[in-house]
Amino acid sequence: MTNDIPNIEGAVCAPPLAHEERIVMGHGAGGRMSHQLIRKVFMSAFQNSALNAGDDAALIQLDARQRLSVSVDAHVVEPLFFPGGDIGKLAVCGSVNDAAMLGATPLYLTAGFILEEGLPIETLRRVVESMRAAADEAGVQIIAGDTKVVQKGKADGLYITTTGVGVVREGVNISGANAKVGDAVILSGAIGDHGIAVLGARGELGFQSSLQSDVAPLNRLIAAALDASPNIHVLRDPTRGGLATTLNEIAAQSNVGVVLHESAIPVRAEVNAACEMLGFDALYVANEGKVVVIVPQEDAEKVLAAMKSAKYGEDSVIIGEVVAEPKARVLLKTVLGSTRVADMLAGEMLPRIC
Ligand code: MG
Repeated sequence: MTNDIPNIEGAVCAPPLAHEERIVMGHGAGGRMSHQLIRKVFMSAFQNSALNAGDDAALIQLDARQRLSVSVDAHVVEPLFFPGGDIGKLAVCGSVNDAAMLGATPLYLTAGFILEEGLPIETLRRVVESMRAAADEAGVQIIAGDTKVVQKGKADGLYITTTGVGVVREGVNISGANAKVGDAVILSGAIGDHGIAVLGARGELGFQSSLQSDVAPLNRLIAAALDASPNIHVLRDPTRGGLATTLNEIAAQSNVGVVLHESAIPVRAEVNAACEMLGFDALYVANEGKVVVIVPQEDAEKVLAAMKSAKYGEDSVIIGEVVAEPKARVLLKTVLGSTRVADMLAGEMLPRIC
């Protein structure tokens, strides 16, 4: 689920981080500030080719044929339980999905728990049971873990970090850097459900909502898409920062433009209503069960058909195309007929939604 370590040249325009600067919530929002932190602090220290690729997972070439996909995600969502999911389901799906985004079959997860003194064991049991159910659905095993406890007040109940390991299919070559001019952009369903559902669980919507988070393991949907075409260029889940931020990452990595057709992008009425009330744009609201698939135009219809007949992909739709200019930009053709730039999320919008 990440916007993990993206290698975005466009994010370097801000001045270097000074020694006296401190972490602010925007550094965890998955947008431009997160990218800057990642580049200035982490990537500059940990330089290596797998990391520098800037994808959702690291690609490890074991030998001439075998490749592994390795992902990691930390989860701090508040509250722990929300409509459609909980921190445990989120932690499993996050790492399953990121590992799958290189065209891999996820097989194994590890899980690290930071527990706050006083947390009811029953709460932990519910979360762990939810992790087991999500892992069963995804067909992965949780093979190792770690537990640490901190004093009351030093954490907020429970945090979980998961690592996902998968085996990349032979014959696929998928990266955020592989989008080509003319490719179709497919989205697997409605945007913004997760972020708005978590806000609803916090009582911040001001109205009753039946909206559920879309959190789901997407590995079988992705397998169906790859069965239809091994020529898929890019897979990425639009999590923190939303659809617009994810497409900006891809546009920058691939040095292309992306044109989106607003009228084609599915948004539920409840998400639209919440966004209008709160002053949000659904293009920036997090998803936890959606994938963007960028594929050569000639394969688009068969990939779309395969996705529509797979679980979690029933509402898949072509939402745009890859263009030559403007490079590293996302343009939105609005329902009113105008065109505007849909930039990367600048700072903080919804803290602790994953
Ligand atoms: Mg991701």
